[in-house]
Amino acid sequence: MESLVIRKAMVFDGGRALAGLYDILIEKSVIKSITPYDPDTKFAGIESIDADGKTAIPGLMDLHVHLTWNGGADPAEDIRRENAEEHLLTTVGSALKYLAAGITSVRDLGSPGDAAIFVDRAIKAGKFQGPRIFASGQSIIMTGGHDPFHGIMADGPWEVLRAVRRQVALGAPMIKISATGGVYGRTEGEGVDDVELRQEEVDMIVDEAHRRNVKVTAHAIGEAGIRGCLKAGIDCIEHGHCITEDMAAEMREKGTALVPTFYIYQHLSSSAEVPEYARKKAADIIARHRNALKWCHEAGVLIGAGSDAGSPYSPHPSLMEELYALEEGGLSKEEVLTAATGNAARIIGVSERLGFIKEGYLADIVIVNGDPLESLSALERPAHVIKDGEVIF
Ligand SMILES: [Zn+2]
Repeated sequence: MESLVIRKAMVFDGGRALAGLYDILIEKSVIKSITPYDPDTKFAGIESIDADGKTAIPGLMDLHVHLTWNGGADPAEDIRRENAEEHLLTTVGSALKYLAAGITSVRDLGSPGDAAIFVDRAIKAGKFQGPRIFASGQSIIMTGGHDPFHGIMADGPWEVLRAVRRQVALGAPMIKISATGGVYGRTEGEGVDDVELRQEEVDMIVDEAHRRNVKVTAHAIGEAGIRGCLKAGIDCIEHGHCITEDMAAEMREKGTALVPTFYIYQHLSSSAEVPEYARKKAADIIARHRNALKWCHEAGVLIGAGSDAGSPYSPHPSLMEELYALEEGGLSKEEVLTAATGNAARIIGVSERLGFIKEGYLADIVIVNGDPLESLSALERPAHVIKDGEVIF
């Protein structure tokens, strides 16, 4: 498509709502201009979408998904049982579900066989429609560490260095590590307070990744593990249940982001279908999680929205659940929406071209019914989704 104009739209630009109604002109894949709506302006010969007062927002971003997990009762067990071709099919099947929900970008943090990286390549090559996938591929973990089914087991600075270089060579835009144990994944022998990778390993990973202009994010739940990540200068903490008030101040100071995946742990702790061992571990830490989010929010830490979709009984997509949970956790609607647009782009490292409705930005735009700053439910079942200037529907 050459040109497209969205007429008479309210605009949330990725950080704030603009006053009034606007026409958004898109040329090829780029936002060309955003001008106040004037009924006398004619855009002759250009395909037009009449937003009629609906709200245009940047395409939503889910910062924490596992496309290769199926969101069933025990996805890790399914991964162990299935072969590489089945993993790939699950990944494709998951990816196909995102655009309809207005989610034009996802950050995939751990896929067996690097499946999410290959699916992203296929989407970029136009083999089928799907979201932009910013995928770490396999994570980097210690031998026996958290989420072994999608982890490269590496011990010592030189092995983790090789693992970082392997993922960078594959084209991964970020590195995911397991800094601590987790709630879900292994039935025994894994505690959320366990520090997994050693300080010299985390230091090496962050140092090498940054030398290659790649970000690092850590699965990190226990306090000591999070501290080690901050010391190493990591870019982002996933989950972060045991972040303390002083650590929140340190994160703000250093520009370390938090993707709390707030909803999933409430869900894991309270759903009868979730495996017993995981339910119990989640229940033990959800009170701390609430404080961590509060302290980070108050300190002004960059907070992003990530659902952990694909986890037990969390189907693709589950971003709306996370957005409601963040609101319930104390963020304003504007902050919640920014966590899934502008700030999400900052956390991925693409905020100079994505995550905002601004001139010169890539045209990933969703038209939603109503005003999401009045109720986040306006984000459900979008009226139109545009990715890269192409009208998906
Ligand atoms: Zn995860």
